[in-house]
Amino acid sequence: NLSDKFQRIFKNLRGQGKLTEENIREALREVRMALLEADVHYKVAKDFVTGIAERAVGQEVMTSLTPGQQVIKIVNEALTDLMGGQSEPLRLIGKPPVCLLMVGLQGSGKTTTTAKLARKLVQEHRKPCLVPADVYRPAAIEQLVTLAGQINLPVYPSTVRQKPEEIAREAQGYAREHNCDTLIVDTAGRLHIDTELMGELGRLKEILQPAEILLVADAMTGQDAVQVASAFHETLGLSGVILTKLDGDARGGAALSIRAVTRCPIKFIGLGEKLDALEVFHPDRMSSRILGMGDVLSMIEKAQEAFDEKEALAMAKKFREDTFSLEDFRNQLRQVKKLGSLEQILGMLPGMGKLKELKKLQVDEKEFVRMEAIINSMTRGERRNADIINAGRRKRIADGSGTSVQEVNRLLKSYSEARRMMRQMMGGGGSAPATRKKK
Ligand code: GDP
Ligand code: MG
Repeated sequence: NLSDKFQRIFKNLRGQGKLTEENIREALREVRMALLEADVHYKVAKDFVTGIAERAVGQEVMTSLTPGQQVIKIVNEALTDLMGGQSEPLRLIGKPPVCLLMVGLQGSGKTTTTAKLARKLVQEHRKPCLVPADVYRPAAIEQLVTLAGQINLPVYPSTVRQKPEEIAREAQGYAREHNCDTLIVDTAGRLHIDTELMGELGRLKEILQPAEILLVADAMTGQDAVQVASAFHETLGLSGVILTKLDGDARGGAALSIRAVTRCPIKFIGLGEKLDALEVFHPDRMSSRILGMGDVLSMIEKAQEAFDEKEALAMAKKFREDTFSLEDFRNQLRQVKKLGSLEQILGMLPGMGKLKELKKLQVDEKEFVRMEAIINSMTRGERRNADIINAGRRKRIADGSGTSVQEVNRLLKSYSEARRMMRQMMGGGGSAPATRKKK
């Protein structure tokens, strides 16, 4: 799948020096193919890749990132931008009752989403009234009435004998009578776009003057959803899109294309059949989903916030001056606990690449707690000068921290091993670590 593809593309990039035209060109060709396979519109994919190339070439690789991670960062930022950058709230402005007109093809999830949205608005202290305007199937009205019952909301009593236009005209007065400030109008869909449906929706728009016209589109339909969005937008002028059924294995391609082709913001996503399965659309999260690189991305993010360059430099200085104490070791353990592995942290230190040797120093979560307890049980003098920790002191520290002398020994060994390794790396006049291979 797409995620695997990206993993592979970036693995190929890993270990290369700078971001040059050459080393990203091939990666981007593959990115383009991968996007096409994820049902992203070909023109969107092409523009995207061009944009990336412009952005990436010549860009300095951040000291805290590998070139591979740097490209992921750029691709991720570009995808996020392409989907609007930020989440877009509903704009419920105008004289109440403010109207939301829900449109879309049959089966896209309009009726379900109408109720989901109403539930969300209730949480925001609004009083919505639901309006079934799909009069062609009695079951459609019944469906909305049932859903509204689950969240105790008033429903305009539409009947199949009414015309949608009549419902629209009367619903506003009904909402006012019931002290509702918002109308959510669920309309009929068709299997395909046709002029009759569009005509009807146009008339509803005229009558209701909606603050929002929201297209409900099924993410599972991929490229078709883009066509549908374009057609609806052309005739009605959409204010937003709600992408449903993203809980399935729908690829994120639809989100990307819809936004890029129509310029309409995606406002919410549906993640299940239940009424609480509606979430605000976050372009950055969708981008991680498309890239399938949530782990890498969050690591990059964490690295940036938890271990900024200044800190890394300060730590490097300590290593260089050989003043790395058990207190520093404890600080580092805390960082490691936050981040993942010591290896990763060291990889982020300026001038250090990946060091296989350091795998030895990896410890699990529970061990961290014990290691910290051991260091906490030492005196300040001991923490600053580990050499004075003799057998008697080890016993005392073990008792004080509820561990054993063996564990204390192990911690001291890890500490001195880390220190020795740092000294080695720093000692060579800032030379690159020995494990960095040149091909
Ligand atoms: P409408 O014809 O556009 O009104 O579509 P419905 O609201 O009746 O939904 C059609 C089907 O899709 C129903 O079985 C819904 O439960 C289901 N559905 C709607 N939204 C979602 C979603 O986000 N995820 C999943 N898995 N199913 C959904
Ligand atoms: Mg329906």
